[in-house]
Amino acid sequence: MACFRCVFSTRFPQSHRLFLHLASPLPRAPAPTAAAAAPQPPFFIRQINMQAQNVAARLSSSGFLHAQGLVGGKWTDAYDGKTIEVRNPATGEVIANVPCMGRNETNDAITSAYDAFNSWKKLTAADRSKRLRKWYDLLMAHKEELGQLITLEQGKPLKEAIGEVGYGAGFIEFSAEEAKRVYGDIIPSPLPDRRLFVLKQPVGVVGAITPWNFPLAMITRKVGPALACGCTVVIKPSELTPLTALAAAELSLQAGIPPGVVNVVMGNASEIGEALLSSPKVRKITFTGSTAVGKKLMAGSAGTVKKVSLELGGNAPCIVFDDADLEVALKGTLATKFRNSGQTCVCANRILVQEGIYDKFADAFSTAVQNMKVGNGFGEDVVQGPLINEAAVQKVESLIKDAISKGAKVILGGKRHSLGMTFYEPTVISDVKNEMLISREEVFGPVAPLLKFKTEEEAIHMANDTNAGLAAYLFTTNVQRSWRVSEALEYGIVGVNEGIVSTEVAPFGGVKQSGVGREGSKYGMDEYLEIKYVCLGNLS
Ligand code: NAP
Repeated sequence: MACFRCVFSTRFPQSHRLFLHLASPLPRAPAPTAAAAAPQPPFFIRQINMQAQNVAARLSSSGFLHAQGLVGGKWTDAYDGKTIEVRNPATGEVIANVPCMGRNETNDAITSAYDAFNSWKKLTAADRSKRLRKWYDLLMAHKEELGQLITLEQGKPLKEAIGEVGYGAGFIEFSAEEAKRVYGDIIPSPLPDRRLFVLKQPVGVVGAITPWNFPLAMITRKVGPALACGCTVVIKPSELTPLTALAAAELSLQAGIPPGVVNVVMGNASEIGEALLSSPKVRKITFTGSTAVGKKLMAGSAGTVKKVSLELGGNAPCIVFDDADLEVALKGTLATKFRNSGQTCVCANRILVQEGIYDKFADAFSTAVQNMKVGNGFGEDVVQGPLINEAAVQKVESLIKDAISKGAKVILGGKRHSLGMTFYEPTVISDVKNEMLISREEVFGPVAPLLKFKTEEEAIHMANDTNAGLAAYLFTTNVQRSWRVSEALEYGIVGVNEGIVSTEVAPFGGVKQSGVGREGSKYGMDEYLEIKYVCLGNLS
């Protein structure tokens, strides 16, 4: 099936394929709503275009920017020459054209990874560890440029983007250390002439499919442990943010990770997915993205019985009890709700506030939200960037419309930002009920829905009343309550008096329909290992 976003392009040399179209027109968005029709300030747009051009030029000359896929260590175009445009979500301008790859390129990437597996797995753990450490050092040495690239293609504020580089690189550093600790086991034998050994061995070729909201970290969280264990990978980044993945892959080569160990293909998602799923050479699929696509990949993996890890969507409750420290609750809730403009799987999706503190919290929270500066991620003091695309804004609009029609009230925002494009006003809405769509689905935008509850039991019931089970938060100064509620929440991650919970040293992952498996920490290593039991007999 053809990819609807692919366009035919003559085969420009690599350098011409980057930033060729900075002045090209914006994609025609679907019919705007009344709020969307607000005029765009042309001067502002011109100004941010200049910033983007400067950043683009600097990155282009830095040498690690690529606009081709990586197959067997070679930078590669789509075999039919088709490309996809990568756009800056803050301006709509084309940053680069990358290959629109499909089945054939993916099959070649799988073959390269399969061939490389034979030698990569045989390196000593210490050798793999050294190369991963070097990769980490290079990622950190290019922290600024990688951060700029993330802001350029994903839109998040530069400070947050540079933070993502540190966070993402952390998975490579941790994996470099953990590579040396893949221990087996010896089991006491029930028979005198036998010895029982447990070996841990790499799974094999891994297909890693990642989303756009963390263009670097969602890749390193998979590739770090995979490589540390001796696996090789075929990465499929989101078509919306492939440039960071390609830059990271370039740095992996510079770090001495051999050609074929890390491959990157992008383009026609369903064709690439199908090639990965159907190949018996691919022994593991690791996916981060929406629950709907995760279910398809899980079902598709059955044909060749692959190992599967899924990091899927969330619907995080953030519970503020009457006995919470208001300052701590405000800081934590703001952080978990508005990070990446609300576009993370662990963002608070429902803010449950106990009736005794509800009005006070709503007032203070709305004041804090009102002070958040919205704009291009390169702008000074900007803390809220654009949403990723028009579809994301339309989803936010439809959820708010549904909530208002069922009795919710807009305290702040509730419409597109006057900056135009995909900028949306940071929003607070009250009187939200758990039955409304906004409480059932991932908002994935800068909207904080406030729900009122009376008792601890009611809060736990409301929090668990969803198919998702990724992250949950609670704010209380009562130690007994913090334990009681943490244990009762049906979630893989619980933040108590804390809104930022992700770290490479802890197991990240969800229960229910939020996923299978864990990423990060020693537990994340197990996802890329098979257990082999060896029984040594006849020893008498
Ligand atoms: P998505 O639409 O599911 O896409 C994720 C990845 O899957 C992209 O690379 C996409 O490619 C690819 N894809 C789409 N259809 C495919 C198919 N049929 N076969 C193979 N690959 C396919 O999700 P998204 O919109 O990028 O990301 C947002 C979602 O990710 C949210 O639900 C969020 O909660 C979740 N997420 C979860 C975690 C976690 O750790 N649990 C972390 C971050 C995000 P294209 O982009 O090229 O179409």
